[in-house]
Order: sequence, then C-alpha cells, then structure tokens
Amino acid sequence: MSDMGEIPDSHPRKASLVARAKLVEASKQGLLADSAMIAHGRGEAFDYLLGEKTNESAKSAIKECAARLLVAKSPVISMNGNTTVLAGRQAILAASIIGCPIEVNIYYRTPERMEKLIMALESMKEEIASENDGETKASVMAVEILGAEADGNIVGLEGPRSICSKKGIESADVVLVPLEDGDRCEALVALGKQVLVIDLNPLSRTARTATVTIVDEVSRAMEIMSKLLLENPTPTDWDNQQTLRDALDVMADASTRI
Ligand code: ATP
Ligand code: MG
Repeated sequence: MSDMGEIPDSHPRKASLVARAKLVEASKQGLLADSAMIAHGRGEAFDYLLGEKTNESAKSAIKECAARLLVAKSPVISMNGNTTVLAGRQAILAASIIGCPIEVNIYYRTPERMEKLIMALESMKEEIASENDGETKASVMAVEILGAEADGNIVGLEGPRSICSKKGIESADVVLVPLEDGDRCEALVALGKQVLVIDLNPLSRTARTATVTIVDEVSRAMEIMSKLLLENPTPTDWDNQQTLRDALDVMADASTRI
C-alpha cells in the first residue's frame, strides 16, 4: 500500500485505486482466492455505471437490512476474502451494534485462508477497540469471529461449499452475506432463512434470489449500515424486485452523465 501515498486526495479515482491496492496486497498475503480480482473487476464495472455512489433506493435497502438484522433471533454476518479486505472494519462495527457474530465463510475453502481471514478480522477488532473506549470498546471486543470450527452444514450444497459454523450460518434466521454466490444464496433461501446481500450486479442470481438486495459497493454500504443501525429502523413489506429495477434505472440514466 506504500505507493498509494502518492495519489492526492483530489484524484477522482482514488477510492477505486486504494481498493485495488488493498486487494493486490491481500492477494500477495494469501488472503484471497485466484478469482477474487475477477469478481472485483466485475463489481467495479457496475459501480462505474452507478456513478460510484449510494443511491436512494440502495439506502432504503440498507435500512431494511439493518432493521431485519436488529429484530432477528439469530443474525450473523458472513464474510469472505474480498469483503474482509474491503469492509472488515465496517462489518465489525455493524456486528458490535447488532450484537451478532461474524462468520468467515469462503467459497474456495482452505485451512490457510480461513486462518488468515480470521486473524485479519481479529486484528481489526483489536484496532477498533483500541480507538474506542467504554461500551463501544466492550461491544467490539465481544464480536465473535466464527468459521474455524466448521461444525455446521448448509443443506442442499455439497463438498467444501456446504461447510459452515453451527452457531453461525447453520442456526441463523437472518444472514447478511455480502458478495454471496448464486448457488449458496439459493440454498440458504431454500432453508427458510432471510438472506440479505450486497451485490453491485442487480442481474446476478444472488441479487435476484436474495430476500433483500443492496445494490451498492460493500464498503460504502456497510459504512452506511453502521449509521442506520443506530436509528433503530423497523422492517417493512419489502419489494426486492423494485430495488433491482431502481438500480437498473440508475445505470440506464448514466447517459445523462456524459
Ligand atoms: P451469481 O453467483 O450470483 O450468479 P456471479 O457468478 O455472476 O453471480 P460471482 O463471481 O459469484 O458473480 O460474485 C461476484 C459478485 O460480487 C459480482 O456480482 C460483483 O458484481 C459483486 N461485487 C464484486 N465486488 C464488489 C464490491 N466491492 N461490492 C459489492 N459487490 C461486489
Ligand atoms: Mg457465482
């Protein structure tokens, strides 16, 4: 990340360049699967069409997710490599407000990557705790990072992709899974869980299958979620098809920005 210091804050692509640098560094450290960059690039393209900002419809979806996580019996935030690197801190903060665990759950599961991601989240926890005191510090330190135990199973999936934590995803009624894969999203919905996703592609299977889809960049969305959680929102009758159409409308309006 050392070369990022050379980019002035006024550079219009700064946020995007910083995100890329974080992923490159994390990849070198062995935190990411080989396909992580491809997934990120696909997300970037959609974000460009969105004008790289959170639109009103996405804000409503973030609020809806915050509300559903707050009233859930057993909520969990599932994190993969990309989301840990890009929005780990924001997710820990959100989990500390909800009072829920974070589960590291990755598509291409290896013991090495699991351990590295859990350690990365544990050290982010320490870092946030050291910047705060009192109740905030205590609730941040209380966020449990699950995943290593691998004692649960997602019924409907096979092989390593079905592995999860019993205390986390297996027993959860509401799961926030930023950047989930279509197959797993379908399996979790089929189990009767509410699946809340963050996906820049409104046409992905994940986006179309989820209970609530936030079509926004994961670090922006999670940052806003931490703020909205403090407003104690309540769940509504949610029309997820509408939010997908809204995102496509914003993208279609990109021609007005030329
Ligand atoms: P699906 O499995 O749902 O059918 P897919 O196979 O097309 O979708 P994947 O490669 O499984 O896509 O997942 C990557 C998804 O994550 C893409 O839809 C991409 O737009 C999205 N994405 C990538 N980076 C980000 C980010 N930083 N914030 C939000 N979404 C992102
Ligand atoms: Mg996929």
